[in-house]
Amino acid sequence: MPEVVCLGEALIDFVATESGVGVGDSPSFVRAPGGAPANVAVGVARLGRACAFLGKVGDDPFGRFLGKAFQEAGVDIGGMVFSSEFRTGLAFVSLGAGGERDFCFFRNPSADMTYTPAELDTTRIDSATIFHFGSITLIDEPARTTTLTAVQRARANGTLVSYDPNLRPPLWQSLDIARSTILETLSLADMVKVSEEELGFLFLNRPPDAPLTDDELNTCMRRFHEAYGSVELLMVTRGARGCCWSTRRGLQGALAGLEVVAVDTTGAGDGFVAGVMVGLLKRGYTTPSALEKVSAEEWKSLFWFANGVGALTTTRKGAIPALPTQAEVLAFLG
Ligand code: ADP
Repeated sequence: MPEVVCLGEALIDFVATESGVGVGDSPSFVRAPGGAPANVAVGVARLGRACAFLGKVGDDPFGRFLGKAFQEAGVDIGGMVFSSEFRTGLAFVSLGAGGERDFCFFRNPSADMTYTPAELDTTRIDSATIFHFGSITLIDEPARTTTLTAVQRARANGTLVSYDPNLRPPLWQSLDIARSTILETLSLADMVKVSEEELGFLFLNRPPDAPLTDDELNTCMRRFHEAYGSVELLMVTRGARGCCWSTRRGLQGALAGLEVVAVDTTGAGDGFVAGVMVGLLKRGYTTPSALEKVSAEEWKSLFWFANGVGALTTTRKGAIPALPTQAEVLAFLG
């Protein structure tokens, strides 16, 4: 049975083969399995821990491709739902002339949005030591109620709950709804991972892609702990600038990014989260209250490892093909 259960969306990213053009002008696309919680599941499995992905895809060639890709990576897919009624979600994405990403989603609705509480694999949820979720399945009903039901069940079981809101602006009806939904759900977790841009969006009303100064970052982290007194750990990723973290009891730290030749940053944050969860499992910190016992030194070494996982994930194209094994991370960190 899985130690880690990740619940959320799984979809196919069709990535334009040419950069500098909009999605509509790209002549061809390459298929890549996607969905942040699914990437995290693959990340955990690659790092050698038993992990299950829970979510709903279509019983169509793309959904079956996703199931096969996760399974080949070592993820338990016994709790995945393959719908005969709804199709797998598709996202077409290209890198525009200014380097910005152009998206076109086909999910009207897609199977992940139609995930119902009755379809939850409660046996796997009950077996989990860590339960991880994201915010995309909080956008539409019935997936929203399903996600919240699963999170509440994990909490009631005393499972460690991890949340990466992973803001994707085009999927939300409005940015205000995205902000309020994420702010309302942060308190459900014991540990929260955000990017610095997401932190500024949530706590300083910044646009969703604005980086922060160190001062702004500290202000946001302080506001986070003031507002969410029950959340033990906040982790903030800063791309090539590395990461920082703080706990509700006042431990904090930061690590610079590791030197790599980054070719594609997709999935770096998901690899990072997988690295943190595996680091906690390795050290035996497996309950919400155990997080309070992690020392400042242990947090640092745990984030050093997660930083390595994130950095290595950027060195290969795509998320799932790039997520490293434990041996690769240890060899890289030396
Ligand atoms: P997200 O994918 O959630 O936006 P980030 O891009 O901040 O997350 O990346 C997550 C982690 O991956 C960072 O904290 C860092 O450890 C690592 N990382 C990302 N980009 C780079 C890079 N260019 N060089 C080195 N490490 C990186």
